[in-house]
Amino acid sequence: MYRFKDIDADMIQGAETRCQGQLRSALVLGAGVVGMATAYALARRGVAVTVVESRDQPGCEASFCNGAQLSYAYTEALASPALLKHAPAVLLGMDPAIRMARAIDPGYVGWLWQFLRNAAGSRFTANTLAGLQLGLESRLAMHQLQQRHALEFGHQVTGKLHIYDNAAAFAAAQNMVARKRALGAEQEVLSPAEARRIERVLEQRRDRFVGAVYSPQEEVGDPHRFCLAMMDLLQREYGVTMRLGVRAAGIGSDGAAAWIMTDAGERIGADELVLCSGIGTRSFARELGLSTVLMPMKGYSLTAPAGPGPLRVSITDVARKVVFCPLDGAVRIAGLAELGVSNTRVDPRRLDSLKAAAMAALPGAADFDRAGHGWAGIRPMTASSLPQIRRIKPRIAVNIGHGMLGWTYSMGAGERLAAILLEKVA
Ligand SMILES: Cc1cc2nc3c(=O)[nH]c(=O)nc-3n(C[C@H](O)[C@H](O)[C@H](O)COP(=O)(O)OP(=O)(O)OC[C@H]3O[C@@H](n4cnc5c(N)ncnc54)[C@H](O)[C@@H]3O)c2cc1C
Repeated sequence: MYRFKDIDADMIQGAETRCQGQLRSALVLGAGVVGMATAYALARRGVAVTVVESRDQPGCEASFCNGAQLSYAYTEALASPALLKHAPAVLLGMDPAIRMARAIDPGYVGWLWQFLRNAAGSRFTANTLAGLQLGLESRLAMHQLQQRHALEFGHQVTGKLHIYDNAAAFAAAQNMVARKRALGAEQEVLSPAEARRIERVLEQRRDRFVGAVYSPQEEVGDPHRFCLAMMDLLQREYGVTMRLGVRAAGIGSDGAAAWIMTDAGERIGADELVLCSGIGTRSFARELGLSTVLMPMKGYSLTAPAGPGPLRVSITDVARKVVFCPLDGAVRIAGLAELGVSNTRVDPRRLDSLKAAAMAALPGAADFDRAGHGWAGIRPMTASSLPQIRRIKPRIAVNIGHGMLGWTYSMGAGERLAAILLEKVA
């Protein structure tokens, strides 16, 4: 059973005073939400940080146009008894929301085996509660960041409703709510009428639903704008060096230092290297012993102007696996899960299927006819849905595998990684 630790400000602030001065320099590979949060956690503790990123801007891969939800309390792992029951439909391609690649890479067999083991009820609960711990730490770290610095990224506390149309799934969700509430999460179980009173857009839903879980403290924010704002902050106030447009072709370490070899042949070194390279970490997986750790899971999003009765609260239609999020006066809609697919091409048929599911779930949520082009990204999945935040070998650590909740987990994951590095390096 997962052992939950109490969450308090000292968990994040206390590390600062304990660790200052022990580590001089660090390289962070990858400028997605996780890399930017990690760079911040290290730089704030006095470490000289260089961020290396192959794209010309931060946050242009999985962190570009995701569902925008900071889902601190709703941390349900993907591998679950419910998904296991549904596995035949997934394998036969009969579920529009979740699919497996037709030809799965043999390298993923180990991951799939681990995934099946994690679908047992006890593991699902433990993984979900471990996710909650990281989610609540992240919420605290995000709030502390915003108390220190004014950052513009469309951040808002909207609250979130999960809508259930299946009685058995709703009963299981109520059970999980009770466990999470005991650990400090704020969640309520609502009737359909109570849910409609919180979000009027639900009145236009044609399909019946049996109830909802309401998480009033959940937040939203644009991850790409967050990465841009963090880059500005890190350079301006923390002296962080951003090396954009630089691709790491190799990495290495010895007793004294770690380094990146760029594809232009430059060697960039530091005391420690932290890989925050999302699904791109697979290029280095074999040498790091991580070859069965990450599975790509492609997903889609689209952004549409707000509908007639503007959405105020984030909503997830649990059965359709579609999320709706009010973001800067528009609505971000995200969904679809394609396990084993690692290309980011936007397939118009898949985008149409997301749009159709969204229109069926909440017809009044957005002006669907004026939706933008759509986007596809890759969630870097571990079999447990929990990230790997650990030292891999002397002077090399990873902060990877944040899966469906990388934006949510980013700030807490950065703090955890900094604490690991600064405690271990003398
Ligand atoms: C459709 C969709 C919806 C989602 N919705 C949500 C949501 O609502 N809430 C939530 O919490 N999460 C959500 N996620 C998950 C979240 O987006 C990811 O977990 C998160 O963005 C991962 O962040 P990251 O920094 O680890 O990876 P990335 O953002 O992919 O960053 C990794 C960076 O490393 C760089 N890189 C990789 N290899 C190299 C190299 N060799 N050299 C130099 N640079 C390199 C890449 O260019 C990239 O910029 C969603 C994901 C998808 C696809």
